[in-house]
Amino acid sequence: MAVQTVPNANDSATAAGSAASDAGTVDLGPAAALSCRECGERFELGPIFACQSCFGPLEVAYDLPSGDPEELKKRIAAGPDNIWRYAPLLPVPADVASKPNINPGFTKLVRADNLARELGVTGGLYVKDDSGNPTHSFKDRVVAIAVEAARAFGFTTLSCSSTGNLAGAVGAAAARAGFRSCVFIPHDLEQGKVVMAAIYGGELVGIEGNYDDVNRFCSELIGDPLGEGWGFVNVNLRPYYGEGSKTLAYEICEQLGWVLPDQLVIPVASGSQLTKIDKGLKELIALGLVEDKPYKIFGAQAEGCSPVSVAFKAGHDVVRPQKPNTIAKSLAIGNPADGPYVLDIARRTGGAVEDVNDEQVVDAIKLLARTEGIFAETAGGVTVGVTRKLIEAGLLDPALTTVVLNTGDGLKTLDAVAPTTGPTATIPPSLDAFRAAGLAR
Ligand SMILES: *Cc1c(COP(=O)(O)O)cnc(C)c1O
Repeated sequence: MAVQTVPNANDSATAAGSAASDAGTVDLGPAAALSCRECGERFELGPIFACQSCFGPLEVAYDLPSGDPEELKKRIAAGPDNIWRYAPLLPVPADVASKPNINPGFTKLVRADNLARELGVTGGLYVKDDSGNPTHSFKDRVVAIAVEAARAFGFTTLSCSSTGNLAGAVGAAAARAGFRSCVFIPHDLEQGKVVMAAIYGGELVGIEGNYDDVNRFCSELIGDPLGEGWGFVNVNLRPYYGEGSKTLAYEICEQLGWVLPDQLVIPVASGSQLTKIDKGLKELIALGLVEDKPYKIFGAQAEGCSPVSVAFKAGHDVVRPQKPNTIAKSLAIGNPADGPYVLDIARRTGGAVEDVNDEQVVDAIKLLARTEGIFAETAGGVTVGVTRKLIEAGLLDPALTTVVLNTGDGLKTLDAVAPTTGPTATIPPSLDAFRAAGLAR
C-alpha cells in the first residue's frame, strides 16, 4: 500500500485545524481507504486523486455500519437537519456537526403536481430543490465534505477551478471554517456568480479562457511549489468532494419514506454528481435502508455543451471534448472527467443522456417558476427541459415516480431570463391608467 505524505503539512496550521502530518492519524470516520475505480487498487487516505498504478480516478472506500437498518434509520432521523445526519456514511469524523462548517443539505423535495399536469406525469413528480443551500447551489454539499478532508490533511488554503457555483461555495465554506481561499473561474461568468464568489472575502481570480482552461491551469498549479499546501476541492480532494453528492441520494430516498424513486433526471457538468448519486443509491440498497428495485438515471446537458449526450446517442464509450457555448454556464465543461462513467450508468440502468437548446432552457425555467413557484438557475432549466423532451420521446415513463433536480438558484443567472421577462405594464399611479392597461378582472 502506498503511503502518502501531505504536501507542506507543517506546524503553521491555522484555525482551519491542526496539521495531521502522518496519514495514520487522519480521522475521516467510516472512510477506510481510497480505491481505484478502474483497477481496484487501494491507497491510504490522503490528498491524492489518481491511481499510482493505472492513473484511474480514486474514490473513497468504507467500513459501512452493519446491523439493523431500522436502528440506522432512527439514528439518521435523530441527527441534524443537514447532511451530517448521514455522517456514518460519509468520509467525515463522527463529531463533524460540532465543527465550523456551512452545514448544507436537507433541502426540500417538492411534490410538483402542477408541473406534473403540464408534462403529463401521472406517477408522481418531485423537484429536489437545492437552491435552498447556504450559497444557493448543490455545490455546498461537495465543499462541506472537502473542507473536512482539508482540515484532516492540514491544508491551510482552499481552492478550486469553478464554473461559478463552486467558487462561491468554497469562498463561504472557507470563511466559516477559517481557511484562506483562492479560487479560479472563467473570466466571463454571470455577474451573480462573480459577486457571490467574491463577497466572502477570499481571493477570486478570473482566467482568460473557458472552464477547461481554468482546470488545466489548476492542475499545473498543484504540481508547482506555488500550490503547495493548497487543497483544491475538486482536484486533489476530489475523492472526498464527490462523496458530498451522495447525500442527494440519501435525502431523496429518506424524504420519499425510505423508498427509491423509479427515475431521476440529473444535470451533467463533469458528471461527478450523477455518478455519486448512483453510488449513494447502491449503498442504501446494500445497507438495507431501501428495498432493492430497478431505477433509471437520466443525464441532462445543454446542447451548447453536450459531449456526454452526443456520445450517448452515438453509442460511443468515450466522450469527445467540445468547446462550450451555452447560457447554462454552470454545466459548461467541455471535457468532463466522469463522462464515461455517466454513459455507463445511463446505459446500465436503462436511462439516457439528452440535451436541450438555450431557448428550451429558458422556456423550462419559466415553466417551473409558473407551475411550482421555484426559480431555477439555467442548470434547473436544463433538467426540466430534458425531462419534457424525454417524456415526448417515450424514454421517460410518465407513469413512474420521477425526481428532477434543481441544483441552483435563478437569482444567480438573471442574465438568462432578463431579456424576455419584465413588467406586464408600466403606468402612472392612477386608476384610469390601470383600467386602460386592461389588466383588471
Ligand atoms: C456543478 C454543478 C452541477 C453538476 O456538476 P458535476 O460536475 O456534474 O458534478 C449541476 N448543477 C449546478 C448548478 C452546478 O453548479
